[in-house]
Amino acid sequence: MRYRAPRGTRDILPEESWKWEKVQRAFEDTARRFGYRDIRLPVFEQTELFARGIGDATDIVRKEMYTFADRKGRSLTLRPEGTAGTVRAYIEHNMGESARVTKLRYFCPMFRYERPQAGRYRQFWQWGLEAIGSMSPSVDAEIIHFCVSLFTNLGIEGSVAKLNSAGCKSCTPAYNEALREHLAPRLDEFCPDCSERYERNPRRMFDCKNESCLALLADAPSILDSLCDECRQHFESVLEYLDRMSVPYEVDKGLARGLDYYTRTIFEVHYPGLGAQSALCGGGRYDDLVEELGGKPTPAVGVSAGVERLMLAYESESGGTGQEPGPEIYIVSMGERAEREAAGLAAGLRADRSVELDHQGRSMKAQMREAGRLGARVAIIVGEDELERGAVSVKDMETGDQVEVELDRLNEAVEEKLAK
Ligand code: AMP
Repeated sequence: MRYRAPRGTRDILPEESWKWEKVQRAFEDTARRFGYRDIRLPVFEQTELFARGIGDATDIVRKEMYTFADRKGRSLTLRPEGTAGTVRAYIEHNMGESARVTKLRYFCPMFRYERPQAGRYRQFWQWGLEAIGSMSPSVDAEIIHFCVSLFTNLGIEGSVAKLNSAGCKSCTPAYNEALREHLAPRLDEFCPDCSERYERNPRRMFDCKNESCLALLADAPSILDSLCDECRQHFESVLEYLDRMSVPYEVDKGLARGLDYYTRTIFEVHYPGLGAQSALCGGGRYDDLVEELGGKPTPAVGVSAGVERLMLAYESESGGTGQEPGPEIYIVSMGERAEREAAGLAAGLRADRSVELDHQGRSMKAQMREAGRLGARVAIIVGEDELERGAVSVKDMETGDQVEVELDRLNEAVEEKLAK
């Protein structure tokens, strides 16, 4: 029996994962600069949390959840997204009591039972931010600015935010009616999924992947014309903040998001370099969700994004030319005594430098070749003869220069070469 990773999952091997580390570090550094703190959530939650939090009508809840009964028969689900769990934790730990605005970030795997295809997995990664506790349009703009900043920090230039509003409880019922009225005469031309969306939540029809459905929606009324005064003011303020922050954006009347909990601002940030599927992240306000999940009424706004897609953009922008960082130092040794000395030197140098050495008793030539292959900047050559004199050789792998140094001057010599 040869075991394989389950369908829809994949291993991210070291040849690739060093790039993931870079992207994750850029995410964490940028999030820290914006004041978003790390939260680590359980991989599974009560099924009910997602059913309520994400919405019964969504594809995720209807078709894509990994749901199972545990040994006591409790229904649990592997998290398909991060917002419901974050809000559950926010309520459970009364996080709103210690801060007026609670700003959290996550970077972790999610699980959805989808048909695997290019870039679509059953276990995939998302990064996300949630800012819970403020109604202010400045937080919406801050989160959008974060996304553009993150992409810029990764060398992904030219991303543009697209914004729309999802309205609120008071302005959406009238809009839904206007939309139904407009679409009714041609309803039979839409796909079956859209017919169902028409009944449950007609705004979700904008989310359809079928070109023919989208064409039928082209002249549908825009929610921006039906917003209540508060929602309109909020939307305009978000745009003013974005102007002030010099964040490039477009208003996109057709923008809809696949999750039911959004209110007011909804947005995506697009990177045209990715072609048709150019959205690098999406999010918006969810002012009713905290209360919906059992907390006090608390406004909130967030964003999330697939890391796999971000990796594609990152690789295309960095030209895929980067190299996995190798050890700074490779210690080559020959003979038993030299091997022990090499191990001792590595132990000392590893306090603040990355060091690799041979564990297979290979020839000096093979070890030097390995040092080159790994991209070490300095090789330390420990030979029996030199050891007799209390010395080793230090070779600059870039220039090929090699000098003999006494052991008690080794650190200095290595630092000198690495400093160049
Ligand atoms: P959503 O939470 O559905 O808005 O998805 C947000 C982003 O997560 C998408 O734009 C994708 O980049 C990513 N994503 C969602 N589902 C998958 C999947 N099955 N495999 C890989 N990425 C996914």
